[in-house]
Amino acid sequence: MKTLKRSLPGRRLLLTAALAVLALTGLAARPAAAEELAKNLFGAKKLPAVAAPQSIGFYSKGCFAGGVAIPLDGPKWEVMRPSRNRRWGHPTMIALIEKLSRDAAADGWPGLLVGDISQPRGGPMLTGHASHQIGLDADIWLTPMPDRKLSLEQRENMSATLLVDEKTHLVKDALWVPAHMRLLKRAASYAEVERILVNPGIKKKLCDTVKGDRAWLRKVRPFWGHDYHFHIRIGCQLGSPNCKAQENTAPGDGCDQSLAWWFTEEPWRPNKNPDRPKARDVMTMASLPAACQAVLDGPDPASAEAVTYYGDGVPVAAAPVLTKAPAPARASASGAAALPASVNAFAATPEIGIPLPRPRPGN
Ligand SMILES: [Zn+2]
Repeated sequence: MKTLKRSLPGRRLLLTAALAVLALTGLAARPAAAEELAKNLFGAKKLPAVAAPQSIGFYSKGCFAGGVAIPLDGPKWEVMRPSRNRRWGHPTMIALIEKLSRDAAADGWPGLLVGDISQPRGGPMLTGHASHQIGLDADIWLTPMPDRKLSLEQRENMSATLLVDEKTHLVKDALWVPAHMRLLKRAASYAEVERILVNPGIKKKLCDTVKGDRAWLRKVRPFWGHDYHFHIRIGCQLGSPNCKAQENTAPGDGCDQSLAWWFTEEPWRPNKNPDRPKARDVMTMASLPAACQAVLDGPDPASAEAVTYYGDGVPVAAAPVLTKAPAPARASASGAAALPASVNAFAATPEIGIPLPRPRPGN
């Protein structure tokens, strides 16, 4: 009896404790989810969110829906490091890379080695890059495409050519060719492109050697890194009301004190707080625009192939059978002409649910 008497309050205590734990777990569920690192959530997504193309937030703090992939191979491009699954972007970005590959080839550049664009739904990445989060940034190697198809293994392991001397921050003249200049000029020539980021040494090389038309140099901005690839950034596209535009570049060709600063000691001082975590390593869903949660929760397409953008007027996929046509999402005025209508055919509408794209004909 003594045992029973003692155990009764004991049991009650246990029950109370159990209830308290349950209540706590229930209460804690939401804050815990909100505190999950955004890079883990976005980094885990294998496919984009089916929706009209839309960039949300800023280049270094956002996400995007309705992304499409650039094919691993094109007539004039090859995607590098495919295992990273960062060949996704806003359709205008993907169309632009494909166009650049053709135009650059006409200028004498054999083809593009395409580096990182974005994760399928953007967001912060597990490694590398502060930006590339809203589908409007792309890295292109400064190494020309070889005249053979690279194997998957080569694409993972091949090193890019470092064009800049890390001590002097000047371009290695033995490696620099006029075709590099023409490639950067071509990339800067598109209206959608707002900035091209290159190593200060490359900017200086352009400042020192470009003759005639120098207006395009305004878009080419010096930045750390970018010595084996350059970075193309396009502006916010129509249909993305929550896309935050970047500041305009300063007028002029940028071959001034702003460039000279890069050749002082100041930009290269060792980081005083090397252990301070990077923004992407602390960002939670609460740090991102609220709409990014819906992007994260959005439905997958049928396959990556179904949302791969082939350009050249060839539809992404056969048009799905619709009972009611979805309102076409708009790209920028210049981008719209380059986009097949079916790029936007993945937009979900409540009336028809999610159209299931079929594979591209003949592929
Ligand atoms: Zn980049």
